Amino acid sequence: MPKTFSQLSENYDAIIIGSGLGGMTTANRLAYCGHRVLLLEHHHRLGGLATWFRRKGHIFDISLHGFPYGMVKTCKKYWNKAIMESIVQLKNIVFDNPQFSLRTTFDKEDFTRILEHHFSISRPVIDRFFETVSGMNFYDDQTLSTRELFEDFFPGRTDVHRFLMEPITYANGSTLDDPAITYGIVFSNFMNRGVFTFRGGTDKLIGMMADELEKNGVTLCTQARVDRIVVERGKVRGVEVFGKVITAKAVVSNSGITNTIYNLTGKDVFSDEFMGRADKIRVNNSSCQVYIGIKNGESIKDIGDLIFSSTAPQFDSEELLDVETKSKTFSIYYPKTRPGLNRYTVVASMNSRYGDWSGLNEDLYQARKRELITRSVKDLQRYLPDVADKIDWTEAATPKTFNRYTLHTRGTSFGTKFEGLDISRSIFKEVPGLFHVGSVGIIMSGWLGAINYGVIVSNDVDSYLRS
Ligand SMILES: Cc1cc2nc3c(=O)[nH]c(=O)nc-3n(C[C@H](O)[C@H](O)[C@H](O)COP(=O)(O)OP(=O)(O)OC[C@H]3O[C@@H](n4cnc5c(N)ncnc54)[C@H](O)[C@@H]3O)c2cc1C
Repeated sequence: MPKTFSQLSENYDAIIIGSGLGGMTTANRLAYCGHRVLLLEHHHRLGGLATWFRRKGHIFDISLHGFPYGMVKTCKKYWNKAIMESIVQLKNIVFDNPQFSLRTTFDKEDFTRILEHHFSISRPVIDRFFETVSGMNFYDDQTLSTRELFEDFFPGRTDVHRFLMEPITYANGSTLDDPAITYGIVFSNFMNRGVFTFRGGTDKLIGMMADELEKNGVTLCTQARVDRIVVERGKVRGVEVFGKVITAKAVVSNSGITNTIYNLTGKDVFSDEFMGRADKIRVNNSSCQVYIGIKNGESIKDIGDLIFSSTAPQFDSEELLDVETKSKTFSIYYPKTRPGLNRYTVVASMNSRYGDWSGLNEDLYQARKRELITRSVKDLQRYLPDVADKIDWTEAATPKTFNRYTLHTRGTSFGTKFEGLDISRSIFKEVPGLFHVGSVGIIMSGWLGAINYGVIVSNDVDSYLRS
């Protein structure tokens, strides 16, 4: 059970600000290594963007649409076997757009088949493409863009570019103009074995993680927003919450990297050289979602687990961000998602810009949300013509919603563009004892990226605390 603020001690070895998957993993690893760890979360529940909410008997998952197979190994090694055992494959991934309509298991073998037989790409080109992207790593050339990579292998084939790119743009907000390695690493992760989900839903996963954190001795405190990271004589001293300073040798911020630098720590403690680089960080886009609940007792037919649906003539990352985008994903949650709860829900997700929503007055904001819901239900009717009569709940989230619940700059869903990674990795060289974990640089985002980054940062913090 999370502790109340008044029950906390005055000092810990490490304080983690934020309980996203990155923050929780860092907390868990440090406590496992024997450190006294406090995890402070501003929201009333743990999980950050890995979250859910309940309405009228429905449970809506926010970010449980799919992750790569790598989660199996990562969860087994750094969380526990029971968590690993609930990870299951989503086998029916659907693309439906004016250029092609097809179903796939979203792995290398099936993509090879589709590229060869549906798109008529020669086998040697396909093999070379897979070899190239799977060989990419962080230290590779960062000047090659994804657009250039695609043009090299599939010149002028906008249909193939869409097939390869659209899912990754939804998964991490990257565009054709981002460095090809941000594409290659994430795409190869999925191609390994396909798309996976957590049976039992996000609520079950976060509940199991909370149990593991408590077992390892992490002190949890929710509804505790950190106002300031306290730095004295160039070193971390602790954090300020509700006007009180709690001290620690190390502070790990799972708040966004821009929040961490500009709002929690303050520019003054960093060198000009560091701030020069930090000022160039671009945050990634945000999201809109529409949550659709199907009446208790009603059912819907199997139309696939995850549908990349679009009526836009071609893939265009700007079109994906438009307020009236014609492109969205539908995640269909059948009763198998939460065995025992015989319910169906659908979540429509769209990439979105904070600026398109933040300046609206309340009436216009509510009207735009209603339009979003209407458009999403209409699009869903293309696959389920009779769905409207079966719906008993609809609700929309916008970039403002994501900003309110996570405090992320402009409600970013996937952290920052590539340059954020270097800043996140080098912050502790500027202020000893201060670390950052969480979505940065495109490749460290997503459930797998955030957890893996949590492991990397916990190793840094452990070495620092022992030094
Ligand atoms: C709509 C949407 C769909 C997504 N779908 C998928 C998907 O299908 N698959 C996938 O792998 N990934 C998906 N993602 C991305 C994935 O959810 C995130 O990359 C990942 O969960 C981020 O983890 P994180 O560690 O960066 O922390 P976050 O989840 O960003 O959490 C940060 C935490 O810090 C807390 N915090 C911030 N400031 C403070 C403060 N001052 N004091 C206290 N607490 C603070 C916040 O409240 C929050 O809990 C999706 C994201 C969105 C928005």
